Amino acid sequence: NRQWILTARPQGDAFEDCLVWREAPVPEPGPDQVLVRTIYLSMDPSNRIWMQQASYIPAVPLGEPMWGVILGEVVESRNSRFRPGDLVTGMGAWADYCLSDGKGLGPVRRIPGLPLQAFTGVLGPTGLTAYFGLYDIGRPQPGETVVVTAAAGAVGSMVGQFARLRGCRAVGICGSDEKARWLVEELGFDAALNYRSGPAELRRGLKAACPSGIDVYFENVGGWISEVAYGFLNLRARIPLCGLISQYNAAEPQPGPRNMDILLVRRCRMEGFIVLDYMDRAAEMLREVGPWLADGRLKWKVDVDQGLETAPRSLHKLFSGGNTGKLVVQVGAE
Ligand code: NDP
Repeated sequence: NRQWILTARPQGDAFEDCLVWREAPVPEPGPDQVLVRTIYLSMDPSNRIWMQQASYIPAVPLGEPMWGVILGEVVESRNSRFRPGDLVTGMGAWADYCLSDGKGLGPVRRIPGLPLQAFTGVLGPTGLTAYFGLYDIGRPQPGETVVVTAAAGAVGSMVGQFARLRGCRAVGICGSDEKARWLVEELGFDAALNYRSGPAELRRGLKAACPSGIDVYFENVGGWISEVAYGFLNLRARIPLCGLISQYNAAEPQPGPRNMDILLVRRCRMEGFIVLDYMDRAAEMLREVGPWLADGRLKWKVDVDQGLETAPRSLHKLFSGGNTGKLVVQVGAE
């Protein structure tokens, strides 16, 4: 059983140095446990947080396999809820095989015509994050303007499309011209801006792209990009606080946007949320999203790296912008 073991708490962005490759026998399931073979390993910015410190879940213990969200197949079961051959998703390990007590592991029911990879992204945790973060927390109304950061990533690419599908104007902020073109030409965003041209240019771009201001600012990034965006917030704008990826590799706590007074004066509401609170509402999402997937109105992309050995390098892509859509590592055959 090939595994990546976490051996130290990372400092800065050199987190690969904290992971060591190890091979061990495939474990035997104990009472109530299942043995799961990993097919896809989800690459998530929060992996970096779990390496470092306790957050909404504890930190990964040193000397243990790194944790990750997996999609896999049950190969042995001593748990009455699961049978060999079942496809499942939930928290697992950066390994070929892992044991689970079944808590936090859910069934994956294939949908005819839909590739299994859809369950790692649009119908997986990042799809739920985008759906409930935007609709429950952002509460966009038809005609409003929604701006999303990390727009060409797993969550962001869904947020913009969900905004459009409920009659909003969708504007994405992303890290390259190529990604911006993809958002507009393929996914139907109304506009997309490359933040790498700097704050002054982003300000000019937002002014042109959001002539009626911003009603929902879906926050994935934090830092100076938020500061620029706050300048365009409308009265009673909503800010679903989903992630702050620009901060996750920082060795020291980073200063926040300097213009928080705008939130006060314009009566804005910022609300943090964690997708774990929405896991039991997947069926609700599927009812609305299923038809959009079936008729092609909702598009999705999975960016696949091959082989468990690539996982630490793959995770790095999330921080350098090397991925488009949902990033996964394929560990085993479907
Ligand atoms: P993505 O697929 O969006 O990948 C991350 C993207 O972030 C990169 O592709 C990169 O794109 C962009 N990025 C990286 N560093 C910076 C930076 N310093 N400034 C601006 N952009 C940057 O990942 P996810 O969709 O999985 O996650 C997106 C956000 O959502 C993260 O903040 C994550 O923590 C959060 N999240 C929160 C959840 C919750 O429950 N609250 C659940 C899942 C995700 P680019 O080329 O555009 O720079």
